[in-house]
Amino acid sequence: MSGTGGTIPGETLSNQRKDGVHRMRIIVAGGGIGGLALAAGLRRHGFDVAVFERDTDVTATGGYHITLDGRAQAALRRLVPPETVERLLASSSALRFRDPDALWDRRGRLLGYGPSLAGSPSVDIDRITLRTLLADAVGDDLRLGRTVTGIGRTENGTPQVVLADGSSRQCDLLVGADGTHSLVARHLAGGPTSKPAGIIGFSGRTVAEDLSPPERRRLGPRSGMAIAPRGASLYIGFLDPVGNAVLDLPDRRAAITGGPTYIWGAMFPESAETDSMRGLRGDGLRDALLARFRRQGWAERSLEVIAKADPGSVAAYRFNAASTRAQDLAPWPAGRVTALGDAVHATPPTAGMGAGAAICDAADLLEHLREVADGTSTLVVAVSRFEAAMRVRGGEILTLAMRTVRLILATDTPLGAAVTTAATPVAAAVSRIRRRR
Ligand SMILES: Cc1cc2nc3c(=O)[nH]c(=O)nc-3n(C[C@H](O)[C@H](O)[C@H](O)COP(=O)(O)OP(=O)(O)OC[C@H]3O[C@@H](n4cnc5c(N)ncnc54)[C@H](O)[C@@H]3O)c2cc1C
Repeated sequence: MSGTGGTIPGETLSNQRKDGVHRMRIIVAGGGIGGLALAAGLRRHGFDVAVFERDTDVTATGGYHITLDGRAQAALRRLVPPETVERLLASSSALRFRDPDALWDRRGRLLGYGPSLAGSPSVDIDRITLRTLLADAVGDDLRLGRTVTGIGRTENGTPQVVLADGSSRQCDLLVGADGTHSLVARHLAGGPTSKPAGIIGFSGRTVAEDLSPPERRRLGPRSGMAIAPRGASLYIGFLDPVGNAVLDLPDRRAAITGGPTYIWGAMFPESAETDSMRGLRGDGLRDALLARFRRQGWAERSLEVIAKADPGSVAAYRFNAASTRAQDLAPWPAGRVTALGDAVHATPPTAGMGAGAAICDAADLLEHLREVADGTSTLVVAVSRFEAAMRVRGGEILTLAMRTVRLILATDTPLGAAVTTAATPVAAAVSRIRRRR
């Protein structure tokens, strides 16, 4: 159907070309990772698409990095033009160049290493860079500063969105890619599609050069995780899109990270205290975070990465999770309004797969819509097949992500705290003996 305009035989059409061919008009509510990936693919394959995004600037998004596994990269190749893939890989840090991940305790003692990453196809990319590159691929089909405030149907059943300025737009298919608190998915499901996961996350960026030499040596060119009793954990991700670039093409590089950088994420069980920390910004938030870790017995050296962070990069997130059961996801009959990504399967970042899954959703929906345009499927069948596959994918990533959430929450119980306190020094000693051998 590529280049033919994306016709949909037998459907009510809202957009007619000069040559009399009707183009399927698709509105995407939300220009985050999934919405932009979908719109880039639709545009590339000749569909008439408009993305309404409430942000006024695509770079106004989380400063953390996104891991894209092999599946997510393959999906992106089906969506965006080859030059975007090239820019994306020239801006990404390859996991295969990293040392194996480490596990530490709260005193900074090594508990063990993960497997070799030499064969890993995964890449890490700044979320800001990823979103910017996707937005470039969508071009003027992305309408920034446009908040969707209502969803409805015309008398003949055509989906329509109402925007904050009171205007409305009709389409053949409305896709809600409006994230965790999705208006579109709530409209379809008749209520929220996810609930708080019980943990609060804080992230920040620390340039490796700003760390003391001993701490830089301890962390090394690797990512790692420190776990401790009472639900406190600290993930430290290593990103270097310059030295560890997937494609060494400096003139194609668009990374916002200019050299070895640790992008860390701290997690705690949700409480009145963590909720009040969410209202803080910059230095105040960083200091509150350090104070909380110190109170829980974390050693200063394990906290240096937070202490030396750029205060402007420190942010708080409340994680939501949808059900881990595939059959609970997208609990609505297939039709001309659907949703994808976090709107359907909101996932805490503990498996690092939410954005990748949103991209896979987008690629899958595009394939099914191309069948509609080719006349080999109908819109409702296409949406139904897309939603069925998305339920399975969503259930898989949620199961993985919730395993880590449950582990973190388990260390917050009296038994879990006792086990973690007793086990970590033993694991550290075993690790020391192994390294001496
Ligand atoms: C700290 C952290 C680390 C993460 N790490 C990873 C990782 O390593 N790997 C990974 O795969 N995933 C990761 N994720 C998860 C990932 O960011 C999300 O799963 C992903 O962004 C979901 O994409 P989406 O398009 O569904 O939603 P989003 O990217 O959240 O986009 C939704 C968009 O909709 C817009 N919007 C909302 N409501 C409206 C409205 N009414 N009108 C118009 N626009 C609206 C929002 O402004 C937003 O731009 C992480 C998340 C966090 C918080």
